[in-house]
Amino acid sequence: MKLFLVPTPIGNLDDITLRAIKVLQNADAILAEDTRTSGVLLRHLGISKPLHSYHIFNEHQTVQRLVGQMKEGKTLALVSDAGTPGISDPGFLLVRECIKNDIPVECLPGPTALVPALVNSGLPNDRFTFEGFLPHKKGRQTRLMELTEEERTMVFYESPHRLLKTLGQFAEVFGPDRPASVSRELTKVFEENRRGALSELITYFAEKTVKGELVICVQGREPVRRGSAEKRRMFEQDEDTEDD
Ligand code: SAM
Repeated sequence: MKLFLVPTPIGNLDDITLRAIKVLQNADAILAEDTRTSGVLLRHLGISKPLHSYHIFNEHQTVQRLVGQMKEGKTLALVSDAGTPGISDPGFLLVRECIKNDIPVECLPGPTALVPALVNSGLPNDRFTFEGFLPHKKGRQTRLMELTEEERTMVFYESPHRLLKTLGQFAEVFGPDRPASVSRELTKVFEENRRGALSELITYFAEKTVKGELVICVQGREPVRRGSAEKRRMFEQDEDTEDD
């Protein structure tokens, strides 16, 4: 009885881990966001297992049935089309239900787009915030306004046809000089990591037909310089709450 979340390559098939292969081989069944996409990978790995679809349109209906199967002793492995399940992909609901039902959950480490994009960006990565996809319409402006105060590097997923619009909005809210990066087609033959001020990235990508998958990283705002009296107060507050 167990749920495994198994990361799969985001472009380069060599990025599958040895343990991912073992877990997929040993699972009673594999849950896939798109059975055709995962079928190609499984055939490439020589793995033949019952394959069931699990995606955002059926997860609410299927989650209880899957929990029931695991309670009967089955081990299931969840994969998404690419990268780590649950990261801007289905997975969260099933993980939450497993935890509620005392079913062990294990997410294997492995491919995901956000980590290489962040590290390749050359922007500070000691602290960062993963923003995933911005809302397309409702709530987009509010989300952007909330982020104006963010001091950590921000990581966004975006589709190629919205790249210029999004970079334009970033330049408006964060300022055109804010350092940023666009990582395109990570791990693939035509991988590209473009770094520069938001205005430079806009000029560069405006001249191109942007294709493929991409991640945008934007440096956080300069930390607010606090007066020494305010710093002392914050330090004292920290000390008061340290052992709580
Ligand atoms: N679960 C995946 C992960 O762990 O990264 C993310 C899935 S999300 C539906 C797809 C988005 O991830 C794309 O729109 C893009 O922003 C990003 N992405 C996935 N593969 C990528 C790649 N090879 N290069 C750049 N970005 C990628």
